[in-house]
Amino acid sequence: MNQIFIAAAYIRLSREDEESSSIENQKAFIQEFVKQNLDIRLMKEKVDDGFSGVNFQRPAFQEMLEEAKRGEINCIIVKDLSRFGRNYIEVGNYLERIFPLLGIRFIAITDQYDSENRSGRSDYFLLPVKNLINDSYSRDISIKVRSQLEAMRRRGEFTGAFAVYGYCKDPENKNQLVKDPYAATIVKKIFEWKLIGMNQQEISERLNQMKILSPLQYKKAMGLKFESGFCQGTQGKWTVTAVNRILKNEVYIGTMVQGRVTTPNYKVKVRTMIEEKDWIKVKNRHEPVVGEAVFRKVNKMLEKDTRTAPKEKKLYLFAGMLFCRDCRQSMVRKTTVYQERRYVYYVCSSYRGGNCKSNHKIREDVLEKTVLLVIRQWFLHTGKEKAVLEKRCLVMWLIDTIFICENNEIEILADFSDLYQSQDH
Ligand SMILES: [Zn+2]
Repeated sequence: MNQIFIAAAYIRLSREDEESSSIENQKAFIQEFVKQNLDIRLMKEKVDDGFSGVNFQRPAFQEMLEEAKRGEINCIIVKDLSRFGRNYIEVGNYLERIFPLLGIRFIAITDQYDSENRSGRSDYFLLPVKNLINDSYSRDISIKVRSQLEAMRRRGEFTGAFAVYGYCKDPENKNQLVKDPYAATIVKKIFEWKLIGMNQQEISERLNQMKILSPLQYKKAMGLKFESGFCQGTQGKWTVTAVNRILKNEVYIGTMVQGRVTTPNYKVKVRTMIEEKDWIKVKNRHEPVVGEAVFRKVNKMLEKDTRTAPKEKKLYLFAGMLFCRDCRQSMVRKTTVYQERRYVYYVCSSYRGGNCKSNHKIREDVLEKTVLLVIRQWFLHTGKEKAVLEKRCLVMWLIDTIFICENNEIEILADFSDLYQSQDH
């Protein structure tokens, strides 16, 4: 007998593949082939489940390639060439250059291709043609799948590979999200913490202190297979970005949000962001993790966060919430120095042009005291939340608008209901 080949079976299933090319089918097919070929020992099975054939960035494939380079295998078997890859040029590169160089025998069973016994010239010719067909099939299916996916998204059906943190796919229906009880609790906590005045930095630090797995680590711990090209270096801890992403994601109020990124075409995997107005949103698609009022409040807070003056590190207490009672224009913050003391006050922005009859001038410290007094009375009246008052910023965040009247009087529009809602459960 001639040389014995140590073989790896390579099996790939993409998300859009049909039942007939299932992993089990491919395995059985290859095993049957090996039984009839006594010079081959099947030592390994490499499976990429959920990976498209248009590129070779697939974990099992890369692992197999490393083993081939180390000489641990010298034969690769696939059911057909399309399982190996659907990119004409890259497949050709492996078959015609890399594998011969590594001394790898390559077999694509149903294409009747075997690099060891290319019988006659027809194979030289047929293989590239077959390869080209696979590539164009990929293009066709890519367009078809794209429009199918689009239709599903319009109906609010989940089409992603992995559910967002806090949810998992319904085992009965992979297009439906169901709550992941553990992660959903964490999401809820994050919203609550933001609501009581913690910023995203503090929230991520606390989560890390509590040794709560970040969405990425959690995904890994749950044994999900996914491509992560960029986050390996950071150990995947909680970050401000991760917290922000959660706080802004409407998925947590039961809305399915999809179509946020796109790929330019079927071969290029670079993803580009789509403008929010073009996202596909379908309400009431799954059980919410937080109430809509809480979500709206938190996102209002996030908006206010961004209104910090460019050179200022900290956000002014009243930023974005002060308005003139009479003309409804915003109040402007000013500072003056009088007898070596610095005073901060607010005036109506339309006063100078003569559009408002008074400047509605109010000193910042006076305003602060008045607001706190009003809030304190409000809480005394309801008899709740004494501890809340310790944290000034917390209460401030619950205020929507403060109208400044003449004579240092104020009117406050606030909604404290969310506070109770979020503390209740
Ligand atoms: Zn005014």
